[in-house]
This record gives sequence, structure tokens and C-alpha cells, in this order.
Amino acid sequence: MAAALIDGRAAAEALRARVGIAADFFRAASGRAAGLATVLVGEDPASSVYIRSKIKATHEANMHGVHHPLPADTREEQLLALVEQLNRDPSVDGILVQLPLPDQIDTARVIAAIDPDKDVDGFHVVNAGRLAVGDPDALVPCTPLGCLHLLKSHLGSLSGLEAVVIGRSNIVGKPMAALLLAESCTVTIAHSRTSDLPEVCRRADILVAAVGRAEMVRGDWIKPGACLIDVGINRVAGAEPGKTRIVGDVAFDEAREVAGAITPVPGGVGPMTIAMLLRNTLVAAHRRANLAVPE
Ligand code: NDP
Repeated sequence: MAAALIDGRAAAEALRARVGIAADFFRAASGRAAGLATVLVGEDPASSVYIRSKIKATHEANMHGVHHPLPADTREEQLLALVEQLNRDPSVDGILVQLPLPDQIDTARVIAAIDPDKDVDGFHVVNAGRLAVGDPDALVPCTPLGCLHLLKSHLGSLSGLEAVVIGRSNIVGKPMAALLLAESCTVTIAHSRTSDLPEVCRRADILVAAVGRAEMVRGDWIKPGACLIDVGINRVAGAEPGKTRIVGDVAFDEAREVAGAITPVPGGVGPMTIAMLLRNTLVAAHRRANLAVPE
């Protein structure tokens, strides 16, 4: 039987609707809208598309969004000065600096300058540390948080399951592993130096692929009935000459014959990332206003 499809679009829509309602309650309770400040340096086409959808989603969720576009030749000190200004601004609950940044800017310094309590991307070392020690005040990176939401919606309790995460980046792989560990999974993190990756994957009840290699995970790497979360976004040649299409890190058609459930690409993890950004902004706003964070 073919694997069940985990519908990230529907899950994200439901979450965004819930966040929108909670944002209205926040406005009534605090007398102001939850605020997200976005910063984009330069005009990278992919980053511009991402930022536009984030700003649109912010407004649709009844939050206050302020965008700060900066020219491509912005100096590091100028960006740091803007971050400082946003840190001090009481109407700003979340700060998102779109990555990647141009070469003249040290990304780590910019992330380190963001107030950890406004770090809605969850990239600051303070939030990475909070996540690692199980501090509930952690703001967690949006993509792994979205993956966890999909897993729990589909599987319920994850306790005792074998989880394998392929990829060890700070924005996806490592926080994903920390979240699964916190759910009492037995977690393995695989990466480019892992020996016999197919064999490691075959023991996974939960397999999260966050690699960036088109259709790398084959059908015979998968334990029958496993739950697959495909984070990868890879552009490959399409059926017609000159056309491209997006595929994940998992060979979808093969995997679907073996797995119990699978996220499609597109329409799986991707939509959850923006929904979780809104959720993180709402959480940050409630904490800053000393209000109980809604479920
Ligand atoms: P990175 O390039 O930072 O990390 C990739 C990881 O994959 C590394 O840890 C690397 O190992 C590992 N890797 C590379 N090649 C192999 C291999 N042959 N076998 C096993 N492991 C390998 O990527 P990100 O974590 O930022 O992103 C991963 C994917 O997820 C990308 O396709 C990206 O586009 C997508 N993505 C999707 C998002 C969404 O919203 N859906 C959001 C963020 C990312 P090593 O450390 O040893 O080099």
C-alpha cells in the first residue's frame, strides 16, 4: 500500500489560522499588535521571494510587519546599527535578517547581535543552548519546528522511536535532532562522513532528510512503514526542455512504496517554515508582554 501523504500545506494553513486568532487576542490584551521586523540586504531573487511571502503571511496573521530593505553594499556596522535599533524598539517582538548576507558582512556577528528573545529564526547561540538543555524559553528554528509539528500530528507520541536525521546544519539537522531527543526518540545524526548511510537509514522509524541532494534517499534505504520527512529543496531539469522542477532529498516514487507516511516536495515541510515563523513571533510577543503563551 502506498504511504500516506503528510499534507504540509493544510497543516500550515490550520496553524496560521490559529496564530491569527491568537494574535487578535494578543492585541486586545496588550493594546498593540505583535510585531515582526524583516531585513533584506541586496536583491537576491530567491531571498526577495522568501521575504515577500513572510511579510504577506505576517499581515494575514493580524500582526504588524515592518520591512527594512538595505542596499547590497550595506556595511556590517550599518546592519548592526539597524539590529540594535530593532532590539530597542518596543513594538518589535521578532527580528528576522534574511540569509544569506553579502560577503562583506559577517553573518555570525549579525546573528549574535540580535536580542535572543526577539530571535524568531532561533539561530542565536543562546537559543541553540536553551534548546540543547531543554529550556522552554528557547526560540527554535522554524524548519525543524515545522517538521516536529508534522511528525507529532501524524504519529502522536514519538517516545521510544528510532529517529535518523541526515544533515547536521545549525539551522535544520542539529535542532531537529535536539527536538527529537526531547521527544524521547533514540536519535542518530548522519552526515557526509557517515559510513553505510543506507544501513543507518534502514533502522529509522522516523527519517528526516535535510541534505540538499536531489532524490538521494532511495526506496531500499527505508524501513517498511517508516515516517519520512523530506526537508530538501532541489531544482532539477524538468520533463520539457528548458523547464525545471523542485524535488526533495528523497526519491519520492520509490519511497512511497515502502514508507508508512511521507511529506511531498513541494507541499510538505516548506509551508510549515513560514507558519512556524509566525508562531515564534507570537510566542516572543507574549513573553515580552508577560502574557501566557497560547497553545
Ligand atoms: P547544509 O548544506 O547546511 O547541510 C547539509 C547537510 O547534509 C550537511 O550536514 C552535510 O554533511 C550533509 N550531507 C551532504 N552530502 C551528504 C551525503 N552525500 N550524505 C550524507 N549527508 C550529506 O543544508 P541545510 O541544512 O541548510 O539544508 C538542507 C536542505 O534543506 C537543502 O536542500 C535546503 O534547501 C533545504 N531547506 C529547506 C527548508 C524548507 O523550508 N523546506 C529550510 C531550510 C533548508 P557535512 O556536515 O558532513 O558536510
